[in-house]
Amino acid sequence: MSGGAVSGVALLYRGTVLDTPQCPFEGGGLRAEADAGLLVEAGVITDRGGFAEVRGRHAEAEVVDLGQGLLLPGLVDTHVHFPQVRAIGALGMPLLRWLEQCALPEEARLADVDYARAVAAEFTSGLIEAGTTTALVFGSHFAVAVDAMFAQAADTGLRVTTGLVVSDRVLRDDLLTTPERAYEEGRALAERWHGRGRLRYAVTPRFSLSCGDALLASCAALLKDVGGSYFTSHLNENVAEVLAVGELFEGAIDYLDTYDRQGLVGRRSVLAHNVHPTDRQLALLAAQDATVAHCPTSNSALGSGLFPLRRHREHGVRVALGSDVGAGTGFSLLKEGLQAYFVQHLLGEEGVPLSAADLLYLATAAGAEALGLTAEVGDLGVGKQFDAVWVRPETGSTLDVGLRHARDADDALAKVFALGCSADLVGVWVGGARIKQR
Ligand SMILES: [Zn+2]
Repeated sequence: MSGGAVSGVALLYRGTVLDTPQCPFEGGGLRAEADAGLLVEAGVITDRGGFAEVRGRHAEAEVVDLGQGLLLPGLVDTHVHFPQVRAIGALGMPLLRWLEQCALPEEARLADVDYARAVAAEFTSGLIEAGTTTALVFGSHFAVAVDAMFAQAADTGLRVTTGLVVSDRVLRDDLLTTPERAYEEGRALAERWHGRGRLRYAVTPRFSLSCGDALLASCAALLKDVGGSYFTSHLNENVAEVLAVGELFEGAIDYLDTYDRQGLVGRRSVLAHNVHPTDRQLALLAAQDATVAHCPTSNSALGSGLFPLRRHREHGVRVALGSDVGAGTGFSLLKEGLQAYFVQHLLGEEGVPLSAADLLYLATAAGAEALGLTAEVGDLGVGKQFDAVWVRPETGSTLDVGLRHARDADDALAKVFALGCSADLVGVWVGGARIKQR
């Protein structure tokens, strides 16, 4: 791994630490500790408490004084498209037109492995700059490009779950495959990368609109044959898309059923968007313990709609955050958190009033839960990997002013979501290795 060495000696990080080990929607809240000490050995947090107290227990440890600013858990992005880095920022189109005119022509270029390698490097750099240390990555339609993505993820040390994107209709011809080829190429990629270091495989049909029953059945076979693999796709993003899926499938109850009747919806399933669900679908997602990746800047940029978080909560559906680059407007989960807050506020009575702690939870622990990684990441408690983001704005910047005058930790965190950007994240660690340094 070239992302930075993990020191053999115990390191004692000193600073103000904020995280959400207990879900704020279920009685938890922000855990804020000023002048905390986190002892990190071989990449794992092995002791935590007030700095003086932890220092007293570990006089031999080397102190890393983070001084000003805040230390947060590494951010977790549950829906982000690797081939779309260069497509970010196209405005003024609804989903299906944006795919045809903007996203898919760019995705087709990844057939060229050199092009794919360059994009994979830009993509991982975008994640790291934004403080994202764990991601469920929507891959490419080309196996060589997915291979390049895995190699790049391994090189950076990021925790990445990704796989081959498959489709066999509707899209341009050069992005189509067959059920047999989809299985074989996916199986070969999984054999090469799944379970290697921090990498895992995700079975990834693009969406039901572009995948017939036989292709979805081959996805189900791959999911079953690759133990511990994940399933990800899109669901109920846009009204025109939902209607088109309804017309293409004979005998399916609805969009979600096109996946569910193949056995693709379960605890290791993450479905992006779900802006337009029925109550039946919400009840099924909850019963199957699947996760919805909420992607608020994408939903706003494409005019897809206002996410019904309250209905998801009432049905007990797991929800985490995704940037949905490149329909989303960048890699920042701080920006996604802020946009999620805006959307819920705009929904008035139908929305969920979100606190800063809720936003941090959605951007960290909720993502770790979605990806079955709560034993490793999601908060900065003892036993967790040291995946962390140090927020330290430039002296005199508006965020710096805000943090210096914050009433309390919740207020400071709200300012981070309102004002924070990549430039304010001066340190990012994954498994104890520093992968960003300003
Ligand atoms: Zn997407």
